Amino acid sequence: MKAFFTAALTAVAVSLTVVTVPAGQADTSAAQMARAPVGTALEAVPVAYAGTVYLTFDDGPHPTWTPKVVSILRKYGVRAVFFELGQNISWYPSVTRSVRANGNLIGNHTWNHPNLTYLSNYWVNWQLNKMEGALGYRPRCVRPPYGATSSRVASIIASRGQRQILWTVDPRDWSRPGTWSIVSRVLANVRGGSRILLHDGGGDRSQTVAALDLLIPRLRARGFVVGLMAC
Ligand SMILES: [Zn+2]
Repeated sequence: MKAFFTAALTAVAVSLTVVTVPAGQADTSAAQMARAPVGTALEAVPVAYAGTVYLTFDDGPHPTWTPKVVSILRKYGVRAVFFELGQNISWYPSVTRSVRANGNLIGNHTWNHPNLTYLSNYWVNWQLNKMEGALGYRPRCVRPPYGATSSRVASIIASRGQRQILWTVDPRDWSRPGTWSIVSRVLANVRGGSRILLHDGGGDRSQTVAALDLLIPRLRARGFVVGLMAC
């Protein structure tokens, strides 16, 4: 029965390709179809490649929400960058280990989330170093809390050999606007190269978790590939 269902799905997908793909895009679409995992009906429909987008999660690790996020990423075979707080790593080191063990990357989001533009050079470095002491190594990417940066903060980060990574799509999931609001805000603003900001810490993230499970297949249905930033 399962074999029959898979065969039927494939037949539908192939016939859709023949009917809907304009000449000239057939190669791209066929390549996409070959790569696309057949997990849900949403993913079974072949679409042309629309670009690569990147998921990022801030303010963890959190013992409740981070494992749920990691589990959903694993379900879809997707990886992400987690911009973690050193203080949270010191409280929940095993959660951070699990994030990494699943192929995700950790970025530096400071020790305890200050606005770096208000701090002297000494304290900016202290915040970043203290986080890296908890993590055990220096990540390649730094995300200043609140996205608050300046030419001075950016040059400190660069002088440490690190990249400053902000975001381009912010559905304000931390304000708990509703699961579908998070999904629709991302889909309304996403395009190739987007860096999507979500949160796995800092409060009740149940809406973010639910939204993520809806979002990944919908991004793929629109032709986006969910990639991993080089952090
Ligand atoms: Zn943050």
